Amino acid sequence: MVPEHFQMYINGCWVDAEDQALFESLNPASGQAWATFPNAGVSDVNLAVAAAKAAFEDGLWRNTTASQRGKLLRRIGDLITENTEQLAQLESRDNGKLIRETRAQVAYLPEFFYYTAGLADKLEGETLSLDKQDLFGYTVREPLGVVAGIIPWNSPLYLTAIKLAPALAAGNTIVLKPSEHASASIIMLARLIEQAGIPAGVVNVITGFGMPCGDALTRHPDVRKVAFTGGGASAKHVVRNTAENFAQLSLELGGKSPNIIFSDADLDSAVNGAIAGIFAATGQSCVAGSRLLVQEDICEEFLQRLVDRVSKIRIGDPAKPETEMGPMATQAQLGVVEHFVARAKEENGELLYGGNRLNLNDGWYHEPTIFRCQSHQDTLMQEEVFGPVAAVMTFSDEAEALTLANDSQYGLAAGVWTRDLARAHRMVKGIRSGIVWVNTYRAVSAAAPIGGFNQSGYGRESGVHSVLEYTQLKSVWINTSSAPMPDPFIMR
Ligand code: NAD
Repeated sequence: MVPEHFQMYINGCWVDAEDQALFESLNPASGQAWATFPNAGVSDVNLAVAAAKAAFEDGLWRNTTASQRGKLLRRIGDLITENTEQLAQLESRDNGKLIRETRAQVAYLPEFFYYTAGLADKLEGETLSLDKQDLFGYTVREPLGVVAGIIPWNSPLYLTAIKLAPALAAGNTIVLKPSEHASASIIMLARLIEQAGIPAGVVNVITGFGMPCGDALTRHPDVRKVAFTGGGASAKHVVRNTAENFAQLSLELGGKSPNIIFSDADLDSAVNGAIAGIFAATGQSCVAGSRLLVQEDICEEFLQRLVDRVSKIRIGDPAKPETEMGPMATQAQLGVVEHFVARAKEENGELLYGGNRLNLNDGWYHEPTIFRCQSHQDTLMQEEVFGPVAAVMTFSDEAEALTLANDSQYGLAAGVWTRDLARAHRMVKGIRSGIVWVNTYRAVSAAAPIGGFNQSGYGRESGVHSVLEYTQLKSVWINTSSAPMPDPFIMR
């Protein structure tokens, strides 16, 4: 099969890399190349940023009325709805995510555009109660300029939408760089953006690797904000790059999120919640509930039920709607999972289920895997795997549950399973993470902020505040006196 070729979208034109370099995307379910993309180098990055800068500076977009920008965002949402199946198919083929999940994610995707569209014309300043005679003050919120959006491979469309929609609502222009492992659905989104009538240069999509493409984009002096989602190692490069130009930065990084099950929980729900946390999306989720903390007195029963359900997970081709767990998105990530499994064995973790790679159609499959760990300092309890590996430990009481939950460098998400409302509130207050789910897990809404504490990053995406992160405040001073300006040598 000849791989399908996708071009980049720069300044309203569909282009290849200047040097014609390409890279392939492999289908994780078969290991076969199915698509090719331009491999953008520094000169391509410069062209994309120059296009975004020109589109910002010519004022056409910035000076479009906010309600008109909102209408265009709604139009993008409508076009996504009209193309749900194609977007879902592309993303599933590119990163191996289940078609049942990409369909559901794409079906919800327009909500991010509709919600943010409603915020576009509500970006208001304030009048200031100045304690100065004859001076009237107010603030206005203005866009930042050129934004760079750096996207990982696990949920490209969703993680793009929560950057793109607020950036556009606030009047910025943007250069998006999807992951080298999952660019196809973002190129398709760019086609819809063109169709929606967004002016040339306002949205640009370049495809390429972290080095040199992502690196050149995040260190470009004309980029005023970087919105980055990805791993900690790449994020450290991006922090250094943005420091060079004092560009603003938001970081959505990894996690080692605790999913805490108390003995008074509805166990059927908690088992489903544990599985949603760590085996949905084959564990390749930033909010994966990869630390299962279970109260001692129900641990055996809970683990029995968990292993029983996990043993029935239907593993296979992500394109089939009945499949419940697909492959790892990349061969390298499969190697990472195997590394962590070997490490858990070295540290005397008790293997309760799985532990092996699966040979299915040459794809990159791994069994759902559960280890009971010896110590909370074990590697599996502390480090992000980004794969289907659950680490289990018990706790005796609420205080210990909280101590274990917070014993992490990360702080992205947490789950709490209990029927005791007062306890739920105490846990919510005590847990140090950006999201806490009570008696549910992995729920997402356009209205809810997402972001982390500690090493899980900073800044928030989605929700009402996200748009403000794409604006800067200007203070305006008006002298209302007709008298001459007083003594110029003292501050007014
Ligand atoms: P990654 O860091 O390898 O890549 C992410 C993106 O950064 C890619 O587009 C990549 O090309 C780019 N990149 C890599 N090096 C770069 C550099 N030096 N300069 C600029 N850009 C660079 O991450 P990944 O493997 O694609 O994704 C997995 C990671 O993302 C996990 O750690 C996961 O937890 C995290 N993640 C976080 C969230 C969240 O919302 N918090 C969501 C999804 C994934």
